[in-house]
Amino acid sequence: MAYEHISAPATGDKITFSNGSMNVPDNPILLFIEGDGIGYDIMTASKRIWDAAVDKAYGGSKAVSWMEVYAGEKAAGVYGGNYMPEETFDAFREYKVGIKGPLTTPVGGGFRSLNVTLRQVLDLYSCVRPVRWFSGVPSPLRHPEDVDVVIFRENTEDTYAGIEFESGSEENKKLADFLKNELGATNFFPDAGLGIKPISPFGSKRLIRAAIQYAIERRRSSVTLVHKGNIQKFTEGAFQKWGYELAREEFPQETISWDEVADKHDGRVPDGKILIQDTIADIMFQKMLLRPREHDVIATTNLNGDYLSDALAAEVGGVGIAPGANIGDEIALFEATHGTAPKYTNKDMVNPGSLLFSGVMMLEHLNWFEAAELITKAYEKTIEQRCVTYDFARQMENATKVATSEFATRIIENMDIV
Ligand code: NAD
Repeated sequence: MAYEHISAPATGDKITFSNGSMNVPDNPILLFIEGDGIGYDIMTASKRIWDAAVDKAYGGSKAVSWMEVYAGEKAAGVYGGNYMPEETFDAFREYKVGIKGPLTTPVGGGFRSLNVTLRQVLDLYSCVRPVRWFSGVPSPLRHPEDVDVVIFRENTEDTYAGIEFESGSEENKKLADFLKNELGATNFFPDAGLGIKPISPFGSKRLIRAAIQYAIERRRSSVTLVHKGNIQKFTEGAFQKWGYELAREEFPQETISWDEVADKHDGRVPDGKILIQDTIADIMFQKMLLRPREHDVIATTNLNGDYLSDALAAEVGGVGIAPGANIGDEIALFEATHGTAPKYTNKDMVNPGSLLFSGVMMLEHLNWFEAAELITKAYEKTIEQRCVTYDFARQMENATKVATSEFATRIIENMDIV
């Protein structure tokens, strides 16, 4: 495909799909969006680390060919004020996999958020956030090592669908009248702002399917459906119901429900089966503080997942290190989960951890587990040596505070000794 402002690297091959499975060449072209604010610092440092790990893990037989595409402020410079150029979407449709730094959302630019736009336009319906502790990282928990979950948050529905009607508007009055007169729903005050929460079987099931498939592929022990079905019966409650239904219909060999375990197996999960369980959303926050080991993969609706992702990230070091990805049927966009931290722009100071580990997720997505593991181990070694960026240095005793670029150099050096 011909592009106006972007070009494919001289070497490298496209990732392709056949019959639903991904074919990854040894020299795949991966897209990157540098990101605004601290984006340059963390992307430059992380790319050095990813490349070094791939080179070391595969002795030069595999390598990434990076292809830059634009969004945010850098895009506005290249495309004459356009923050979200169409050819960036086209490049993702063509090349399938990429990673992005944080993006500034332009105020009054006609976008609710560039991130939300990317997810919606490319139909990246699963927001995937692994939350685990790395040895040495400051944490408020006594046993942060017990936290090891992967959150699948539904990305396209719920109150985030943007179906809202402002108090006092014509549309709001029409909807209020319809609710009262046609549906007999009278339990709200005059002039209440009104929002619609759509939760569909299609949207819920494709997200829960992705969570169960991940659990099977990565040999995880359970999938917990997190919902608020005790109150919101036909949206959150339905999400739970459809989750059990899907597991029963599509994964009868691989999964077992909590009820079945209690009724037929004396409360013990049979070997090799993935437990499908569910929890009310508010209790989940308590459980993840008091008994985090009882949960593994989590599948949840959009709003619950938003809260839960940041709360759990705080248990193991905060959003500065929490990685994430937005994944659809073929396209996967990995991303730093924090913002652009504008006051640190080009200061070579911040923690590249969130973007770095999003890249680790990307390497795992390509089945390049050896390179991914090399980075994780070298990172842990670096933290163990108490060589950290300013944010961790503030929370650790006897730490050596280093620049983002030096931190990357140390991680690369440590790949030789792990
Ligand atoms: P932020 O995450 O940019 O920064 C909040 C604070 O967190 C910073 O001041 C800094 O102290 C700390 N921090 C963030 N990233 C860090 C890192 N890598 N290392 C060390 N410390 C780090 O949040 P904000 O200030 O609310 O948002 C700033 C801008 O980012 C806004 O324009 C917002 O729209 C955008 N934003 C983008 C994304 C995204 O692209 N995914 C997410 C959130 C916010």
